[in-house]
Amino acid sequence: RNNAEKFEFQAEVSRLMDIIINSLYSNKDIFLRELISNASDALDKIRFLSLTDKEVLGEGDTSKLEIQIKLDKEKKILSLRDRGIGMTKEDLIKNLGTIAKSGTSAFVEKMQSSGDLNLIGQFGVGFYSVYLVADYVEVISKHNDDKQYVWESKADGAFAISEDTWNEPLGRGTEIRLHLRDEAQEYLEESKLKELVKKYSEFINFPIYIWASKEVDVEVPADEDESSDEEETSDNSSSEEEEDEDAEKNPKEVTDEEYTKFYHSLAKDFSEEKPLAWSHFTAEGDVEFKAVLFVPPKAPQDLYESYYNTNKANLKLYVRRVFISDEFDELLPKYLSFLKGLVDSDTLPLNVSREMLQAHSSLKTIKKKLIRKALDMIRKIAEEDPDESSGKDDKEVENSVDDDEKKGQYTKFWNEFGKSIKLGIIEDATNRNRLAKLLRFESTKSDGKLTSLDQYISRMKSGQKDIFYITGSSKEQLEKSPFLERLKKKNYEVIFFTDPVDEYLMQYLMDYEGKQFQNVSKEGLKIGKEKNKELKESFKELTKWWKNALASDNVDEVKISNRLDNTPCVVVTSKYGWSANMERIMQSQTL
Ligand code: ADP
Ligand code: MG
Repeated sequence: RNNAEKFEFQAEVSRLMDIIINSLYSNKDIFLRELISNASDALDKIRFLSLTDKEVLGEGDTSKLEIQIKLDKEKKILSLRDRGIGMTKEDLIKNLGTIAKSGTSAFVEKMQSSGDLNLIGQFGVGFYSVYLVADYVEVISKHNDDKQYVWESKADGAFAISEDTWNEPLGRGTEIRLHLRDEAQEYLEESKLKELVKKYSEFINFPIYIWASKEVDVEVPADEDESSDEEETSDNSSSEEEEDEDAEKNPKEVTDEEYTKFYHSLAKDFSEEKPLAWSHFTAEGDVEFKAVLFVPPKAPQDLYESYYNTNKANLKLYVRRVFISDEFDELLPKYLSFLKGLVDSDTLPLNVSREMLQAHSSLKTIKKKLIRKALDMIRKIAEEDPDESSGKDDKEVENSVDDDEKKGQYTKFWNEFGKSIKLGIIEDATNRNRLAKLLRFESTKSDGKLTSLDQYISRMKSGQKDIFYITGSSKEQLEKSPFLERLKKKNYEVIFFTDPVDEYLMQYLMDYEGKQFQNVSKEGLKIGKEKNKELKESFKELTKWWKNALASDNVDEVKISNRLDNTPCVVVTSKYGWSANMERIMQSQTL
């Protein structure tokens, strides 16, 4: 086209598109899931804006919040249209080509090794999956703030944008036209499409219509006018109602399978894995809301890499069933940002801006309750895991059918998200004790397995006051430590903390159930009764000489110790100083 402006795709995006277009990936259906999800997001956005300004919806058909899918067998075009927020020219350039999402290169790498495209939606590049089935794609879009534009690309490294002077005006929204490849003609079959739409729209809150006629301009749904030319119209509003019901359902009536499906759709996690746990509840009182929380089966790769830089909120906020935002940081603290879920509140006002909502006092109450529920949910994973109760009497574990499924779940949780619990102990003083209960570690007595503070306490020797621990880079290294000699010989249990974050953790975790923590490599270790007064006296000259022999700014004191067995002497850190391990960590800046 003459007036088209040409752009090059950002390098990562271009690589991604190459891989997609050359992919032999078999499940090409997923492109439809991504398009429906984008259409639904766009409709959510305009509906949200309309809460404060009705005008934005426009009049007549333009105001209908719906999705239409059209099949043109002659031209081999499948198109999907929404009356969502639309894209301005600038949006088209940025969103569909020149700005790569942060996870793009990670996803490209992953795909090159696994070839599995299913997770594309999670990486924020779902749109490009259209090139699984099309070799040429047009995106026509009209945003309230701009004219109508056409974006087009053959996935050859470039795209073009032109002001649209030849298509029908859209009113508002976006139409995506897929020029299907020869081998993807099956997507022009209504039956195939109907089946897919059904599958992918289960949790979509807008009606979806399929138009299979050539005369696509006719905009009367078949159930209103039987004589019109459409061969088929699938009104998906029935499944919209279904979803309404689901949310109203007593949580007890929702099956595990339904929760799992809902989780997959919510988290865009199509790995087919079950979430590790979920909690579905209604909060009553001053602030009323319903919520569903999920613990994903796996942590995203970058969960801790970007922990301090980003605030990834993973909860969707609804007010009286209207989607408001999935970018509210106020709903959960950072350390719980690995959870997925949604909150629907009746208490929050509907007709205010996002900024005003963000500042609403009810959010504090909601947050508080969500944290409680989340920690309860995690605690239950442990309680229901038969592995966790080994060593205790097994009376509480009743349901043996469940046992197999629940077995090892807490270890799985811990391996994926344990660090989040530790960060929680550091950050959340209010819930520190609850979080400490969830802590797992190995110890001199845990026999290669994970153990808890409660289990440690149950094994404490009579007369033992403190909880002993030692920090270092690995369990193997720590097991050889001279600091453990006497403690081991006297049969005291010592916790191994080997994660760099553990040093920080122990600066915040001072006590648990009335017991103090004692780093066995630090000053202040008391094992049983102190009987070294005489020893102190008789070695007084030696310790004095020794201290003088060492440069005084390197060593504070030389003392008689009762912590050793074979090793003649050991360097101990003062109570408030950094442990040797902390020095090591600070030098390597591992956190
Ligand atoms: P994601 O949906 O995760 O953001 P996508 O690759 O699916 O990633 O889409 C990229 C962006 O393109 C979206 O964030 C949105 O801004 C824009 N977009 C895609 N489809 C539409 C649409 N139908 N209407 C409006 N904007 C859209
Ligand atoms: Mg998307």
